[in-house]
Amino acid sequence: MLRDYEQRHKRCEPLSESFNRNDCSYVVFTRPTNGLGNRMLSMSSAFLYALLTNRVLLVDFGPDMTHLFSEPVPNSTWLFPEDFRFGNRIYGSKVDDFGSLMKKKNNNYTDPVLVNISSSFLHVNLGYGYDDYDKLFYSNGVQDGLQKVAWLILKSDQYFVPYLFLMSGFRAKLDRMFPDKEAVFHHLGRYLFTPSDQAWGLIARFYDAYLEKADERIGLQIRVLDSKASPTALVLKQVLRCAQKEKLVSKKTSYHKAVLVASLSSEFYIELKDMFYEEVAVGFHQASREEVQRSNDGSHNMMAWVDIYLLSLCDVLVTSGWSTFGYVAQGLGGLRPWILQIPDTKYGGGDTLWGQACRRAVSMEPCFHFPPSYDDNKVGVRVDGSSTVVHCEDVGGGLKLV
Ligand code: GDP
Repeated sequence: MLRDYEQRHKRCEPLSESFNRNDCSYVVFTRPTNGLGNRMLSMSSAFLYALLTNRVLLVDFGPDMTHLFSEPVPNSTWLFPEDFRFGNRIYGSKVDDFGSLMKKKNNNYTDPVLVNISSSFLHVNLGYGYDDYDKLFYSNGVQDGLQKVAWLILKSDQYFVPYLFLMSGFRAKLDRMFPDKEAVFHHLGRYLFTPSDQAWGLIARFYDAYLEKADERIGLQIRVLDSKASPTALVLKQVLRCAQKEKLVSKKTSYHKAVLVASLSSEFYIELKDMFYEEVAVGFHQASREEVQRSNDGSHNMMAWVDIYLLSLCDVLVTSGWSTFGYVAQGLGGLRPWILQIPDTKYGGGDTLWGQACRRAVSMEPCFHFPPSYDDNKVGVRVDGSSTVVHCEDVGGGLKLV
């Protein structure tokens, strides 16, 4: 399938004859919002959707992401041309929006169909905060109608792959493509995301200097989403509880462990280094200290990619619940992480520690945080009873493949 895709991509690539004659169908990943983890998960979902619907995936990154990855298809490009002559038709205010069309046609959720769709350009919003009309994208009847639309302009920050498995129109094909349901993002991600030479240089230098010689590499990804509810001391306590319980950092042995600490802040790294100062068999390392998230900054995103990739090269991973940054690392690395329960008021925590410090993920797959839930109608299949799609460990309403 990938070889077929590559041929199609080459035939239809930007400014090719087929592209200029409008002979191909596309899905354009665009207007990235949110951080790199979210974006990568969403791009991999768009790619799988392109494979399933015979489309070509193009990406419109903007300047903050163009230098991170190599081109996935050899001798071709996936970059959407900036001066494309249909520019206004793609982004102009007159371009139809899928959700609004559904609303206008007054579709109900029981049996939505997309009839008489005349647009060749259509915006599809599958991002966080999308509404019930946008969510009708996930129904089979609508998918039939969308086949006629040459350009789908996708705006999303979600890993929507698990829901594609719940759509009967795609299921047979997906079962043939992925005998191992736990490895879907692993394959998609490793195909799509190869570090650029610049990124590879940074990754290799750090890896060779600090991680390569260790007997075991442990990746510790600390993402604090609510700094009020999660003071450093409390998060550290949770990290240590987890490490102790799961015996991740054994003391005083000749077996050398290198711990890669990935976090926006340098506090955790400094504290841990001090705490384990006398333990010669454990070394702590941090590749970046960005301190604040700046997702529209190219060099900041480069360091995010370097951290994600280095985490994926570890033997053992401890990640933070809710973090797509950690999901990408675990998926690329083929690792089932220990998910830290970080204290967080919004997600059920408080200023004390509760429950388990961490628990092992049921699969290495990322979580689809905001899937549609159409429990009362025919769209998709209910998750209950499915052995392929389950609710996520860290996000109750989320869905993931196992
Ligand atoms: P999520 O918010 O945890 O789901 O992950 P995202 O990747 O979507 O957004 C978080 C963004 O914050 C990242 O893309 C980075 O820009 C930044 N960030 C968060 N944690 C780290 C880290 O450990 N290292 C680096 N370099 N950047 C980080």
